[in-house]
Amino acid sequence: MPQSLAPSDPTVREFEATVASVDGPDVVLDDTYFYAESGGQPADRGTLAGTTVTDVQHRDGDVVHTLESAPDLSAGDTAVGVVDDAFRTYCMRAHTASHALYGAGREYLDDLGYGGFNIDSEKVRVDFETSTDIDDETLVDLERLVNRVVWDSLSVSWEEVPVEEARSREDVAFNVKTEEGVFSDSDTVRIVTIGDSDTPFDVAACGGTHVSNTGEIGPVHLLGRSNPGEGLTRVEFAVGPTAIDRRAEERRATLSTARELGTSVSKMPEMARNLRAKTESLEAELSDLKRGVLAARLAGLDAVERDGVTWRVGTVDGFGPNDVGDAAKDVVGDGTDVVVVAGQEGSTFVVVASTGDVAAGDVVTELTDAFGGGGGGGPTFAQGGGLDADPSAVVDAVRR
Ligand SMILES: [Zn+2]
Repeated sequence: MPQSLAPSDPTVREFEATVASVDGPDVVLDDTYFYAESGGQPADRGTLAGTTVTDVQHRDGDVVHTLESAPDLSAGDTAVGVVDDAFRTYCMRAHTASHALYGAGREYLDDLGYGGFNIDSEKVRVDFETSTDIDDETLVDLERLVNRVVWDSLSVSWEEVPVEEARSREDVAFNVKTEEGVFSDSDTVRIVTIGDSDTPFDVAACGGTHVSNTGEIGPVHLLGRSNPGEGLTRVEFAVGPTAIDRRAEERRATLSTARELGTSVSKMPEMARNLRAKTESLEAELSDLKRGVLAARLAGLDAVERDGVTWRVGTVDGFGPNDVGDAAKDVVGDGTDVVVVAGQEGSTFVVVASTGDVAAGDVVTELTDAFGGGGGGGPTFAQGGGLDADPSAVVDAVRR
């Protein structure tokens, strides 16, 4: 039964093979160096007998190459396969980076287990089973250690070992999805080791394609984390051009922020904290001042006497219903029985505060009956919104 030779010989990019069968655009070879999509690593791209390979899948124990069009091939023919170098190289580096990241996780994460893995053309994700909360600090630690391991240029090696032996080793992380096909019909599993076998940085059971030295991975840039499910933390990262571009983008933003703040990058957090405290204090001060202005405005509204009740009625500008309501409550009493204030925030609103002799809710109901909108309240306080009239028309109606 033909299996892909890609995991054991990932550097082969061009090979000759004998065609085992052809079914429309689907071709099976006696041997192939194309990687069939499996366990989070995408299928290889390339050409077979000069025709573009659009997909490679495991099917019924075979590796099936699906071509762009039905080829002029028959069983027994010899065909040349060419694996797309750029994409395969990207996958090998990205895949090995995921092992290095998992190895870094062994250093920083508690109760670690393997939760899943996926490569796409922009980014790679690794799902950790862990009880550790992967916060910003941990993310930075993980990224730093992965890049350190790249710099340290550790060897990456792989060998087939009996499944039972692999299962009994506690230090082996299982990429179960990649291996499920292999487990079901094989007695051995591929073990991938980063570093020397006596003191490895990471050991994993994995059927993907890997580089032979971590130095080949290049810069690794962590993009972020999320929680895809209970007990799982997903960490996404980029390698290659995407990593380089993202790093440049973040560097540009950081430098630009430091320039705007008039400080250095290392002093940015302190500066941001100071600015936030200052803003909060200014906002509190401004809010006090506005409340004072509003109170003075409402206290200065013309008083209207009617049936022995003193009304203060008017409009305000630049304040919302909540602020106006609080201020109106303060004005009621001490010679004022009812305060009616209309204003605008999106639409026209009206606020009524009362000692209770005149029911505030009734005033609002009368106004919303006359001008539309809605609202309500009790005897001492009520408000309405969405009135279809200018604030001045609303208070004119109250004065009449
Ligand atoms: Zn792997």
